[in-house]
Amino acid sequence: MSVDPEAEIDRLREQLNHMLAQARDNEGVMRRLQLFELKLIQARGLRELINALLFDYKQTFALDAVTLVLADPEHELRRMLEDAGVEPGSLEGLGFLDDEESLRGLLEAGGAPVLGPFEASRHAVFFPGANPAPASVALLPLSRSQQLSGSLNLASADPSRFIAGMATDFMARLAAIVAICLENVANQERLRYLGMTDSLTGVYNRRYFDQRLREEADRSLRSGQALCCMMLDVDHFKRINDVFGHAAGDMVLREMTLRIKAQLRTSDVMARYGGEEFAVLLTQTGIEAALAIAERIRQTVADARFIIAGGTGLAVTMSLGVAMLDRTGQAGAAAAAMVAEADAAMYRAKNAGRNRVHASAELPDAG
Ligand code: GH3
Ligand code: MG
Ligand code: MG
Repeated sequence: MSVDPEAEIDRLREQLNHMLAQARDNEGVMRRLQLFELKLIQARGLRELINALLFDYKQTFALDAVTLVLADPEHELRRMLEDAGVEPGSLEGLGFLDDEESLRGLLEAGGAPVLGPFEASRHAVFFPGANPAPASVALLPLSRSQQLSGSLNLASADPSRFIAGMATDFMARLAAIVAICLENVANQERLRYLGMTDSLTGVYNRRYFDQRLREEADRSLRSGQALCCMMLDVDHFKRINDVFGHAAGDMVLREMTLRIKAQLRTSDVMARYGGEEFAVLLTQTGIEAALAIAERIRQTVADARFIIAGGTGLAVTMSLGVAMLDRTGQAGAAAAAMVAEADAAMYRAKNAGRNRVHASAELPDAG
């Protein structure tokens, strides 16, 4: 049997070209993966990281669906996203589970990536609303120090894309990087949050308030929408401490925070401005509406007793001052003047007998 040497050379050349093309493809995949991992590491917040995972990854690797399911028992991650201006339910592909156990039950043992054909009964929960259903999937458990923090889920319409028994090294590596990055951004957000909130009441602190005050004044001058400031001070708070103790005073401050917050919108900025003094920025709100809100707060504080440890009910009242931003001036000066006016109005409310709302001097007082 004779071999045509030329045909044999052609065949070998073709084989070699095919192998070279495959090597170039693999190199391309590795390069894209490295760039993607770099992007994850560089993400400056939870929002950026989640966006990279849900959207960039899907595009870069031509997947049909990428979803992320995160264990979030304390709703902390959801709160972080809300703080970053993202409605958690609005991100397609992002889901939360209230406990890690239910996540563990969904994934197979060992913490290794799970690859195979899509099975609705087991996998639909990872790809809600995927239509048409994917043909093959890879579920990548995300874990840190024995704790399962979530899973990154990849889906393809190609049944041969993810097959059980395939090498999963690069997926396991990706999952480890994602888990570390998630923990990292969550820690960053926690630190940022601690730096801008008051530990007793959970509302913003004065430092954050001053920063937002400037931003909101700028925004109001640009947009032409009204901005009001409200200062609230507990009446005779010292007596509560003196008679019932500091712990009772703390309880009153916490309950006070809840009552004030219940009357505000999420876009309003509430801060603990000093010991028993709160400040609120009411965005897109004119003075009449601001006075009405202040009056509602005064009532909800005065109308129901504050129950302290042991069951004693205390009658507590507040004095409130309200002022509106003068939009004819320069933002910084106008913002400072608004706070000073609201503070002065609050002191006039004190002098007029407490448990009342006063507006800044140029306006008739409300009560
Ligand atoms: P007024 O009606 O004039 O506002 O009287 P007041 O007693 O509320 O005012 P004053 O400013 O004299 O007292 C405020 C008190 O608040 C004094 C301070 O010990 C107390 N205080 C400040 N921060 C805290 C806190 O975090 N917890 C508690 N329990 N008390 C606090
Ligand atoms: Mg006081
Ligand atoms: Mg005070």
